[in-house]
Amino acid sequence: MDSVLARDWIWAFATAAHAEKRRLTTLDSAIGDGDHGVNLCRGLSRVRELLLRDEEAPGAAGELFTETGALLRSHVGGASGVLYGSAFQAIGGALPMSEVDVDRFADALDAGLAATVKLGAAVPGDKTMVDAFTPAVTAFRDFRSAQPADVGTVSQVPARARDLADAAQAAAVAARDGALATIPMQARKGRASYLGPRSIGHLDPGAASTELLFRSLALAAKG
Ligand code: ADP
Ligand code: MG
Ligand code: MG
Repeated sequence: MDSVLARDWIWAFATAAHAEKRRLTTLDSAIGDGDHGVNLCRGLSRVRELLLRDEEAPGAAGELFTETGALLRSHVGGASGVLYGSAFQAIGGALPMSEVDVDRFADALDAGLAATVKLGAAVPGDKTMVDAFTPAVTAFRDFRSAQPADVGTVSQVPARARDLADAAQAAAVAARDGALATIPMQARKGRASYLGPRSIGHLDPGAASTELLFRSLALAAKG
């Protein structure tokens, strides 16, 4: 993970959120207050402005994640703003160097998830973004540890870069499966929990946006 990939990831996430703004908002209309897509795009528009402003002199990856987190916290509004905001701030805080290897980045993703869990107190099964975030981070790390050390000899692409792209792809698939698994769940956190059993049968909007987050990472890492 370096500053170029960090920018590409965040830009891809902002683009995906804008493309799926209506869908995210529609999902939130079914079991929440119908603003998730609008909320996220409000914050991510600010983040895009930051990326465009910094284009000439990009800062380190960690710095960019921290600044992104702060913008999401102050501009998204709604529960997802502080949750995603804290996640990005924690990811940024866990990346002190300008370029880190995949294992170090896995630690940073872990820190992001931990911040979200600490703040929102949701566990897997509560029908929240944590249901997509948790399996994504696990898949990212497991994919790494399952790789033999000499895997980088067959391709032209540097092993490090390909590792990250493959781990990110595994994370994206796990996030998608995790998001889909929220459909039969009854919500125990956030606005959807007010609906009790009526929350069953709907995809959680935050889990859907977390799928976009990891799909964007996979897209950016593929280059
Ligand atoms: P709000 O509910 O304030 O309108 P959003 O609509 O932007 O905020 O985001 C709703 C999403 O936030 C939910 O779909 C869920 O995934 C997530 N969420 C809500 N509360 C929590 C929580 N305590 N822990 C984790 N995620 C949560
Ligand atoms: Mg909402
Ligand atoms: Mg709201």
